[in-house]
Amino acid sequence: MTVTGGGGRRRISVFGATGSIGQSTLDLIARAPQAYDVVALTGGANVERLAVDAIRLHAEVAVTAHENRLPELRARLSGSGVAATAGATALLEAADRPADWIMSAIVGAAGLPPGLRALRHGTVLALANKESLVCAGPILMAEAARHGATILPVDSEHSAVFQALRGEDIATVEKVVITASGGGLRDWPLARLPHATPAEAGAHPNWEMGQRITIDSASMFNKAMELIETHEFFGLAPERIEAIVHPQSLVHALVQFNDGAMMAHLGAPDMRHAIGHALNWPDRREVPVARLDLAAVARLDFAAPDPARYPALALAERVMATGGLAGAAFNAAKEAALDLFIAGALSFTEMAPLVERVLDRMEAEGCLEARAATLDMVMEADRLARDRAAELAGSTGTPRRAGQMP
Ligand code: NDP
Ligand code: MG
Repeated sequence: MTVTGGGGRRRISVFGATGSIGQSTLDLIARAPQAYDVVALTGGANVERLAVDAIRLHAEVAVTAHENRLPELRARLSGSGVAATAGATALLEAADRPADWIMSAIVGAAGLPPGLRALRHGTVLALANKESLVCAGPILMAEAARHGATILPVDSEHSAVFQALRGEDIATVEKVVITASGGGLRDWPLARLPHATPAEAGAHPNWEMGQRITIDSASMFNKAMELIETHEFFGLAPERIEAIVHPQSLVHALVQFNDGAMMAHLGAPDMRHAIGHALNWPDRREVPVARLDLAAVARLDFAAPDPARYPALALAERVMATGGLAGAAFNAAKEAALDLFIAGALSFTEMAPLVERVLDRMEAEGCLEARAATLDMVMEADRLARDRAAELAGSTGTPRRAGQMP
């Protein structure tokens, strides 16, 4: 569906506009104001940022996910002509507003319902919210196909694979390799990892990202999610997908074809590349990211990930082998474990065992089986996994602050 506005301008909405990906998206939009009409911007707690951007970019509506923040949002938008709404239903209504291109950059499973709703309208959905694919890949892909909508990957690795596959037949792909920096704790001795604080795990060597995904990079839960994301988005069998440690974060992914050719995608570690690619697709246009000076880079290193350091990767293999509701349970248990780590109630190295125990329990209870999952089933598996994570974390002995000696 094309709903392009006056003067050929494209109608654009950004879900999660106040976050790291959202702000980079607005940066690109603001550089070409003549090209876009901004429809809806959404945020969560940061209503100040949301209001400033909604006014600056002349959005039709600004939506906060939190109903209790509506009075403040209204006050900040007063007299601006930008409408203010709040809550889960308002997010769905924002997704119903006609738009040519929608950025899905809410963090967590909360990004799934509005993204799914937007697909109903046959839009182009730029998908940063990888949780959507992990929780409900088949539902999302089927909804896009049913309504002639297009999903474009925004995760840097998946954008890289997507670009390497342009004009290629997916049947000729032998293997996809996605790279991982190894995160902020890559060079720590294993024995020190249980004492890592959220601040230490939340400092990334190469990428500037939101706190949650940065900690997920250190644990490689992010890469685990991305393996599943690759499986769901490109429809590749799990044994054709690998992660490799590449500390420089300059090669984002590689695709190996059946003639032995390996196509690598390189670029500066700046999410505006992948966002700009999705924004300009199917064209390529100028994007203001640094260009690589390969002579200055001089070398690119690669190493197999150590399974003892990154147990989350084996969990991804299990999730892909199990299918059904395993992705929804995995994502929710991972989000719950991360919340507990950030709150100081779980140590860094207790996150993966907790997620594994949630999967064990739900598998034993028969809660992961589903031949054709619906959104309600996904949401129920999500809720159950969070409950199980809270129960099991409570029974793992004394909760302690991360970083505290056991
Ligand atoms: P941030 O934490 O920086 O931003 C998250 C956004 O979601 C904010 O706008 C936030 O609002 C909003 N939000 C938070 N909770 C809710 C909720 N319950 N309901 C509705 N909105 C909510 O995250 P990132 O920008 O880093 O990541 C966004 C998505 O993109 C994630 O899925 C992530 O995995 C993915 N991604 C991010 C990359 C990166 O470089 N940052 C790279 C690749 C993928 P507020 O801040 O106002 O509370
Ligand atoms: Mg990524």
